Amino acid sequence: MTNRIPLIAGNWKMNLDHLQAIALIQKLSWTLDDADHDFGEVEVAVFPPFTDLRSAQTLIDAEKFEIKLGAQDISQHESGAYTGEISGQMLSKLNVEYVLVGHSERRTHHAEDDSIVQQKVAAAWANNMIPIICVGETLEELETQGQSAVPIIQTINALSDHESLGEFVIAYEPVWAIGTGKVATALEASEVATAIRQALETNFGEDAANSRILYGGSVKANNVAGFLQSDQVDGVLVGGASLAAEEFSGISRFKKHIVL
Ligand code: PEP
Repeated sequence: MTNRIPLIAGNWKMNLDHLQAIALIQKLSWTLDDADHDFGEVEVAVFPPFTDLRSAQTLIDAEKFEIKLGAQDISQHESGAYTGEISGQMLSKLNVEYVLVGHSERRTHHAEDDSIVQQKVAAAWANNMIPIICVGETLEELETQGQSAVPIIQTINALSDHESLGEFVIAYEPVWAIGTGKVATALEASEVATAIRQALETNFGEDAANSRILYGGSVKANNVAGFLQSDQVDGVLVGGASLAAEEFSGISRFKKHIVL
């Protein structure tokens, strides 16, 4: 048993405009309420595109929904001549609580390296947000270095050279499992989470090692329970399956599928 509250996080990527965002958040909240979902027991967060955040925040505030709001990225800079970027201060004004940092699509398509990820973690903390640090190996790295090596190095690099550590979440997402329909086995996810937790303890101490570690990569309502059977895995980061209210609500209610 751990005292860590599971987190179910839905990364919408570049999908849904602000009107569609309102409709999805409403439907998700109603579906979870109908199922008597206990948000204190399992946290649920959505990560819409930047242009949806203001509408999502207004809706969540007005309706007093318990769904948390996250952003898909954050600039490492505070303000100034950085065309197209969104600062931590802008996000925290919208009550954004979580921010994805170092998602593999950012690392691949926007050349984000570990140093930028480290700076984005600092930007999140400077603005009282919790970074969800995404780590994971490509297929080639899996074949040459095994499953844990790259996620461990990426985790250590993201958390090094800060004056002190704030709250963070690690999302272990094997790159070869994102959007491909290929999933790591529950045992693999548990083993990598255990290895990351050990590295956290060795490098940053006991509190850091008690951080939440999520699995991500082609998670669906029909496979989520396997990952969350392990007490090392504290939730999931979901892409495609977070775009449908019924499916994401089914994932959020994973406890119903776990046979103890
Ligand atoms: C993701 O984008 O973080 C992700 C895990 O995507 P998918 O669930 O679609 O594989």
